[in-house]
Amino acid sequence: MSHFSLSRRAVLAGAATTLAAPAILSQAVSVRAEAPLTGASSGSFNRIKLGDFEVTTLLDGHRASDGPHPIFGQNQEADAVAALMEENFLPPNRTEFVFTPVVVNTGSELVLFDTGLGGDAGSLTQQLAAAGYSPEQIDIVVITHMHPDHIGGLMTGGNPTFPNARYVTGQSEYDFWSGEDKLTGPTERVAKLVQSNVTPLADKMTFIGDDTDVVTGITGIDTAGHTPGHMSFHLESAGQRLLIWGDVANHFVASIQRPDWHVRFDMDKEKAAATRKRVFDMVSADKIPVTGYHMPFPAIGYIDTRGGGYSWLPATYQFSV
Ligand SMILES: [Zn+2]
Repeated sequence: MSHFSLSRRAVLAGAATTLAAPAILSQAVSVRAEAPLTGASSGSFNRIKLGDFEVTTLLDGHRASDGPHPIFGQNQEADAVAALMEENFLPPNRTEFVFTPVVVNTGSELVLFDTGLGGDAGSLTQQLAAAGYSPEQIDIVVITHMHPDHIGGLMTGGNPTFPNARYVTGQSEYDFWSGEDKLTGPTERVAKLVQSNVTPLADKMTFIGDDTDVVTGITGIDTAGHTPGHMSFHLESAGQRLLIWGDVANHFVASIQRPDWHVRFDMDKEKAAATRKRVFDMVSADKIPVTGYHMPFPAIGYIDTRGGGYSWLPATYQFSV
């Protein structure tokens, strides 16, 4: 007997029960029909305990678009990318981008990693409020790299969004984007945003390099490739660890199962691929959880190496038991 006929029998048994109570059934249908459709929805913040820290991921926004090819798998045939998506139960030609800043409460500082899209597209301050924080409470804003979806929320109407914060970012990242020569050509759009959103805050900024502490328990790691000075941040509290990897990998299937595939937004394609594999090897060896800015919300998971390659394993109750 197949599973299909087993489950079909169960459905028929259920139908018989329902038919035995026709009055209740019609009442339930008419009540349900009056509830308005409210649109697809998911939570906007997710908090875990990590040792003595609390780590909150916040959904700043999401956008559906065509893809993932040719943004991901830029050097591959469209069919190869579509086939990988279908193998993973995803639509072949549509994808979604999410943007996930992170707040870490160390117990003595409130540290925000990246600031979302800003403007009308971003909702970080609303999500912070939902999570119980105000912009005034943020002590330190850490910027993984200076692409617009990470620095867009630094300013609101020309003023700092986080009025009491100091800032931390990579020295090489700031040096690259603040160069006068970047204001024309392919870097123009981002460099202009850096001029309006980052440069005015430079006197409150600490510029760091590889293996530099932001505060006790939070260490910057050089993960360049996506951008010239991209940084990730390793958290450790009471023996628990987590890596905030920013944009090391930006599609949970394409970039993780095929780390060598070129990604349009990686400024140095080969270096970004090498960085991905180095970071995947590091976190998988010690089963370190990861939060990634563009991973599916709540954007916390692990790199699984069973079966030879890499894959994304979403976290579930590891932090609550
Ligand atoms: Zn990004």
